Amino acid sequence: MKKTVLTYYDERMLSHEPTGWDAEHPEWSDAVKIMIAHQYPEASLETYAYPERPERLIAIVERLLADPVDGQCWRRPTPATRAQLERVHSAAHLAYIESLVGGSRWLAQDTTAVSPESVAAARLAAGAGVNAVEAVTAGEGPHAFCLVRPPGHHASADHAMGFCLYNNIAVAAGHARVALGYARVMIWDWDMHHGNGTQDIFYDQPGVLVVDSHCAAPFYPGTGSLAEAGAGAGRGYHLNVPLPRGSGNAALIDVFEQVVRPAARAYRPEIILISAGFDCHYLDQTCAMDETGFAALTQQMCALAHELCDDRLVMVLEGGYNAQALSDSAHAAIRGLAGNTISAVNALPTDEGRAAVAQAARFHAGTIAMLGAALGQRSSGAQPG
Ligand SMILES: [Zn+2]
Repeated sequence: MKKTVLTYYDERMLSHEPTGWDAEHPEWSDAVKIMIAHQYPEASLETYAYPERPERLIAIVERLLADPVDGQCWRRPTPATRAQLERVHSAAHLAYIESLVGGSRWLAQDTTAVSPESVAAARLAAGAGVNAVEAVTAGEGPHAFCLVRPPGHHASADHAMGFCLYNNIAVAAGHARVALGYARVMIWDWDMHHGNGTQDIFYDQPGVLVVDSHCAAPFYPGTGSLAEAGAGAGRGYHLNVPLPRGSGNAALIDVFEQVVRPAARAYRPEIILISAGFDCHYLDQTCAMDETGFAALTQQMCALAHELCDDRLVMVLEGGYNAQALSDSAHAAIRGLAGNTISAVNALPTDEGRAAVAQAARFHAGTIAMLGAALGQRSSGAQPG
């Protein structure tokens, strides 16, 4: 059945345009050169171009315009408010980001930089997720896709990192919890990099269940081991699935079948969010997925949202740096959200990731059982008498 896909996009997000190494910016110091050399050993400092660039969104939009998806419907986001950002970020972090307005700077943490319009773009990116969870809650459409940049999942409560200024999906999840009254929000972060910021923000909170599949440490950012399971009341609500390089479609489908779906059935989320990075695509040169895999994952997540939470499913773009791979994959995901199904998924002869997924599923089995038991206790506690 065809479904509406609310697609949030604003061309002002193209104005976030750090230019890479630039000799005219003396503040882009030797420390930045060292960071670039460390993270991109094969790049020359003079030719280094900021990988998170406007062409990423342009490629997706052009693809959607050239090959329209029936049911896809454009929406313009509104910037996130300070109150919305404050739910997941510290006052000091918000003041720091505000201080960057109008300037070109490399931030101290790593190879993250801003241009004069970056903060305005970041507010729109965070606002898109807020708009999307509100719209699916109001029944304006069952599914939404936020075509946003800068991405968000590396930004923690108190610092920017990994091209991320505000944590877009955390702002959306916080809004769903606090403003819209959802008791249980689930996030699957399938970006190739661990969503360390999202994990940090919700680490002690049982109201947000986070499943995160990613390339294992020491791959950037180096976090996301099986043992990082949450703390305090949030213990057991973080399920990391570290994968080897080279993982393909079959491994990610295994993540869905062996971890995401059983965890969701135990936890029973009221809305599902996806940190949808597409950098596991083989053209991004580390993993081996392709667009048929992303189509299958989306199709399965739609079925899960239909089973558990009245279809409410919101995807928020994270990484993906090859324009062809990104536009093919995002287009496939939006087609999936619109109710299109695929008949075949390309698979590797052997998929290095499958054994790692099986190991993670064994590791998490007890935790997933606990999620169901915890929900049962809360539900029975809520019964009268
Ligand atoms: Zn990524």
